Formats: sequence, C-alpha cells, structure tokens
Amino acid sequence: MTDSDSTKSVCVLGGGGYLGSHLIRGLLEETEYRVLAVDQTFEKLTVSSPRLKRVQTSIQEPGLLETVTADSEILVSTTALCTPALYNQRPVEVIEANFVDLLPLVSLCTERGRWLVHFSTSEVYGTFPDEMKEDESPLVLGPVHKERWTYACAKQLLERLIWAHGQHRGLAFTIVRPFNVFGPRMDYIEGIDGAGIPRVLACFMRSLLYREPLQLVDGGRSRRSFVSVGDFTDAVVRIIKRPERCRGEVINIGNPQNDVSIRELAEKMVAIYQSLCGSAGRFSFQNISGEMFYGPGYDDSPRRIPDISKARRLLGWNPRVTLDEMLPDIILDYVNRYSAAVGSR
Ligand code: UDP
Repeated sequence: MTDSDSTKSVCVLGGGGYLGSHLIRGLLEETEYRVLAVDQTFEKLTVSSPRLKRVQTSIQEPGLLETVTADSEILVSTTALCTPALYNQRPVEVIEANFVDLLPLVSLCTERGRWLVHFSTSEVYGTFPDEMKEDESPLVLGPVHKERWTYACAKQLLERLIWAHGQHRGLAFTIVRPFNVFGPRMDYIEGIDGAGIPRVLACFMRSLLYREPLQLVDGGRSRRSFVSVGDFTDAVVRIIKRPERCRGEVINIGNPQNDVSIRELAEKMVAIYQSLCGSAGRFSFQNISGEMFYGPGYDDSPRRIPDISKARRLLGWNPRVTLDEMLPDIILDYVNRYSAAVGSR
C-alpha cells in the first residue's frame, strides 16, 4: 500500500449487486482506496465508510460513464444479466446488458488511460470438457438456436474487444473469469424479492424454505466447482493491489477442489439445512429436463473445472474454503433473511 492510494478512487459498476457488494467490503478492509459504488439498488451493500460513496443510477444514464471514468483511476465492471434462465428467455436483453451497454466503458477507459478490471465469466468456456486454461482452452459454444449461449457469446465478444483495445490502442485491462461463486446474498427468492428462476443456490434454498422438492435438471448430473465469495473477493482485491502483474491478463478465479455434481450439492444442502434448522421429515428430489425447467433453447455445460495456476502465481492466492465449510453460513443467511416472509405466506 502506498501513500497515494488514499487519493485514488475505484469505481465498482454494479456495486450494489451480489459480487459487487462483497468486493466493496473487501476493498474497504484491505486497501486505502476511495470507492465509488454505482447501482440502481443498494439493499445488498450494507457496509458504510467515509471512503465509500453510492451513486444510485443505471450505467445507461447519459453522462454517467463519462463522469466515473473522469473521476476514478480504476473501473471494475460487474454489471451483468447472469442468471441462466434469462439467456434463452430474454436473450436480447442478455446480449444488450452484457455487451452493448459496456461498449462505451471500454472506449472511455482506453481514451482516458483508466484500468478496466472486467468481470467476465467461466461460461465463456462453454462445453469445453477438460480443465479450463485462460490462454489455451478453446471457447466451445453450441449452435445459435441453443440460446443458452447468448450470455457466453456476448461475454466472449466483450473480452475480445477489451483484448483488442489492449493490444492495439493501449487499454490497461484485466479480465476476471469467476467460476460459480457461492455466498450470502446471492440472487433472490422467487416470489419474495425477485421473479423468475435464479441460479441453483437460490433455487435450492427456496425449495428448502418452502419444503418443496428440489428440482434436479437432467437428474443433477452436471458438475460445477464452487468457490466461496470470500476466496473470490480476496483474489480480486489482490488483483487490484497488483496492477503491474495483472494488467493484460485473463484470470480464472475458482476452486477446483470443490467439484461436485448438482445432485451431490442438493444432498449436501438438505443435510446441512436439516442439521441447522432441526427440520423434521424428508425432502424429496424431482428430476426435470432442462427444456422443461428453463424452456426451449436451454443447453448446459457438463462440467467446469478451472485451472488456477495463473491466479496462484500472479496473486500468491489459494482458495481455502471447502463446500462443507461454506454452506452452513450461506444457508443460515437465507434462513435469517427469508423465513419471516416465507412463514407469512
Ligand atoms: N440446476 C438444477 N436445479 C435448479 C437450478 C439449476 O439442477 O433448481 C442446475 C442447472 O441446470 C446447471 C447447474 O444447476 O446444470 C448450475 O446452474 P446455475 O443456475 O447455478 O448456473 P450455471 O452454473 O449453469 O451458470
């Protein structure tokens, strides 16, 4: 940390969201930077600090991106439509939010010499079956009628644009690829504080809270490796503290040790929920096809295992928290936030 850090500002676009709000807490705890949080809502950003300023607006607001790229040296872009149900149900909005809306940000960061730390996604690897390596693995997406891949394709094209600005126009950038980050405040409970199908954690939490069957898409055979939001934000804060090492890099952030099938995840969550909440009786699982659950155009990544040797090398980082260690706190967070609302229904 240097004396001049306290005079610099990091702007987190999407600072009121799930990842943005966790990141801001980490930045305030681990750096001296001033933090500018931009979002449309701030319910998830509960931290307060004289170094934190909230700006409640959309990134589409005319003049907003001009102002924040004038005022902040580092721009962290976390805004996204990133729940898989939207990829085939609202694909136009998905492409706009994940690609079109961010085009001016890339140009402005290039023109103004700002460092763009962009949150991309592990989904860009698509159906690539082996360990995913940032600078080697092909990005394998399905056919156009499989609209599942709108998100991955939009995110990939933005990565390629950022890379091109970096190579040919001098943009300082770092691209982060998160691999299924699990933690408190992820998504919403459908019918209480959101609508539509969220990601798997909130889907399973809703079933647990309402004592309904947990739905296993295609039998829950797909596999994911889950990284705790604490390990994830630790890695991103390390990136932001290491500009020289991380500029021009694409970096996977995930935990290959926490690789489980979705069925195994469901079974773990039921067991932990029952031990924490003393809930009697049995929970059931219900198999459902992907098309039935998400609608036509759904497709899936069978497995997502990150190679994290680059993150280890550049950041001196290693993810620590196992799935069994992270799930109790996460489950309790949902129980505490939602059981009153569930009980009143
Ligand atoms: N899934 C499931 N039941 C649910 C929600 C999701 O079996 O209620 C599956 C989904 O089909 C996918 C995996 O869980 O195979 C992870 O889904 P998530 O929504 O978290 O996003 P993804 O990792 O696919 O981007």
